[in-house]
Parts: sequence; structure tokens; C-alpha cells
Amino acid sequence: MPITRRSLLHGIAAAGTAVAAGARAVAAFAPNGLKLPLSAGPGSGPVLLNRNENAYGPSERVLAVIREAAAASSRYPRGEYDALRKMIAELHKVKPEQIALGAGSSEILRMAGAAYLGPNKTLLVPNPTYPSLGNYAEASGVSVVRVPLTRTQEHDTDAMLAKADSATALLYICNPNNPTGSLTPRKNLESLISRLPANVMVLIDEAYHHFVSDTAAYRSFLDHPLDNPRIIVARTFSKIHGLAGLRIGYSVSSKDVATRLSALRLQNGVTIVSVKAAIAALDDTAYVRMAAKRNSDDRQEFMNQVNARMLRAIDSHANFVLLNPLRPVSEVIPHLEKNNVLVAPPIPAMEKYIRVSLGTPAEMQEFWRVWDLLPAGKMDM
Ligand code: PLP
Repeated sequence: MPITRRSLLHGIAAAGTAVAAGARAVAAFAPNGLKLPLSAGPGSGPVLLNRNENAYGPSERVLAVIREAAAASSRYPRGEYDALRKMIAELHKVKPEQIALGAGSSEILRMAGAAYLGPNKTLLVPNPTYPSLGNYAEASGVSVVRVPLTRTQEHDTDAMLAKADSATALLYICNPNNPTGSLTPRKNLESLISRLPANVMVLIDEAYHHFVSDTAAYRSFLDHPLDNPRIIVARTFSKIHGLAGLRIGYSVSSKDVATRLSALRLQNGVTIVSVKAAIAALDDTAYVRMAAKRNSDDRQEFMNQVNARMLRAIDSHANFVLLNPLRPVSEVIPHLEKNNVLVAPPIPAMEKYIRVSLGTPAEMQEFWRVWDLLPAGKMDM
């Protein structure tokens, strides 16, 4: 049967109906009567608590834009990038030329690595942290210097400063940090940045910015910028906006740095559909506010369940929690997996913990149901 625009739209509508049926099945668990989620839910596929996605999906307004934009899928992007860069620039009170777009902030990280790393240059990162840039650097033959977090899971800014030398070309800061969900106080980061050797570029990854609880210790480097041309701040549409599958992120930096980064971008890697979705997502500020509040409620509920079982978890400012199961991780992760619940793979630098992304209430109910099936075993403190 030939695929016409009509049959395609019909297919999309049918898929929407199936999703809506799934959403109704779990809507009973929705806090505050909120209209929920896109995820499959227990019984219809694994519960995906492994990649820090937004389990609820994008807003209805964004979904409507994506459906409409699907018709333009045959086209390469033309003027669309400019509209998004202008919008992001207005949001952060900078010039459009200071914005670089990427296919997810992963591409921004890779672009920064490609721009500033190379033979005889090193990358400085906290440990553990989001591994993408370190992996990219190592795959390109660049040495990575990993500095353990402090006991309170902050970037060890003094130790990082001590490791910064004439070979250090790029410093990666992840705040809130993945996989710990922890914050590093702004004053420590500012102090580190102000004392770095002049050869070091600083990449600040604010992927989880919107999930930070109200605290004086945190201030975004976009909302409160430093006047420093060596700083690049990365953000993503994958988390609060729920667009991980559309691959779009951006950076804010000086104009010169943005030009250098953009020159390394995959041509047409950001699509018309993703740009249109991102524009709609930025515009839907009510959804962002609601999603932040919902995440904070979900996180609190998770901590309630942790406390009820007398487990331990690191205070999180993100949409995931690092949980100490007080049992060997090598038993817990396979048990969850066997029961169709996926969490992040073991974390080498924090081998006693598992990282659990926050899902919908129905998914979390399933997580704890499966958790409670764990055989009572030897405690591993
Ligand atoms: N930065 C951090 C800290 C992350 O945790 C992730 C993904 O989980 C990314 C960047 C990459 O996100 P994306 O490429 O989807 O924008």
C-alpha cells in the first residue's frame, strides 16, 4: 500500500491513541490529577529507569508541534536554526552568535573536545561524572585526568586546581553532577575558575539545571554569567523538556568560541523537527514549571520509600537518585533486570551504589514492588 500523507497522519493518530490508552492505564497514579505519561508502564515492556529521561514525555503543545512538523521531514533545515538561536539568545540575554546548536548536548560536548583537545593536551574531569566527554577524549588519544569528588560528592575544586597545568586544555564541570545528583557550590566553582591557568577552557554542563531545588549554593552560569570568554555552558532539551529522542542541545559562550564550536557541528545533524520542537518547548514555560515541581514531588516520594526501607541515598538535585541498596550491586541490578526494571549499569567509582532515574508513579510503584522481592541477604554497607 503506498504511504500517503493521509495514511501517515492516520498512523500517527493511531499511535497516539495507543499511547493515550497506556497513559489512562497508569493515570490513576498521577499526582495532583496531572495528565500523564508516554512510557509503556508495567507489563508492556521494561521499566526504563536507566537513562535519566523524562518519563512523562514532552508537553502536549510540543507533541502537537512535532506531529505537524513531521510533514517537513523530507527537508533539510534552512532558516530554522536561526529562529531557535535567536530565541535561546533572548532567554539568556546574549547575542544569537553566542549560541551553538548540537544534536543533543552530547554533540556540544564532543564539539568542545574536538575544538580544544588534541595531542599533548589533557582533559580534567571530576570522578565519577557523565562519561561522554572523557570517553570521546580517550577515543581520540587524549589523556583524561580524573579527580575524585569530595566525601560530600562535590567537585573537589582545590584538587582540580592542583591538577590543572600547562597541558590542561579543557575542564569539565557537571552541575548538578551525573551520576551523583549532587551540587557543587557556586562559590567553589567561581574560586576554581578564577585561579585556573589562562590556557584552560571551562565547559559547564547544566543538563539537570531545571531540577535543582531552591538553594543558595546553586546559581546557573547562564542565569548569572561570569564575564569570562573561556566559559562554555551546555544545556539540553533531553531532560526537563522531554526531547531526548529528538537530539537537540545548545551551548552559550563568547561569539568566537561559538563560531569555533559550530564549525565542528555535524551538518544538518539538528533536524527541522527537533528545532521546531525545541522552539515550542522553550515557549511552554508552564510545562517546564510543572515538570520541575512534578520531579521534585517524585524525588521526595522516592526518598520516602528509601527511608521506609532504611536504605541510603545521596541527596539529589536531578531526575535520578544514587541509591545505596546496602546489598551487593552485583545482585541488585540483575534482580531488577530479571524483573524487567532497568537501572544504570554499575558505576566504577561508586561501586556500592545504583543510579535510579525517576519514572512515573506507576513505574516507581513497580520498581519498589520488584525491590521488595529481593531476598533478604547479607547487608553490604
Ligand atoms: N550531560 C549530562 C550531565 C547528561 O547526563 C547527559 C545525558 O544523560 C547529557 C549531557 C547528554 O544529553 P543529550 O545528548 O541527550 O543532550
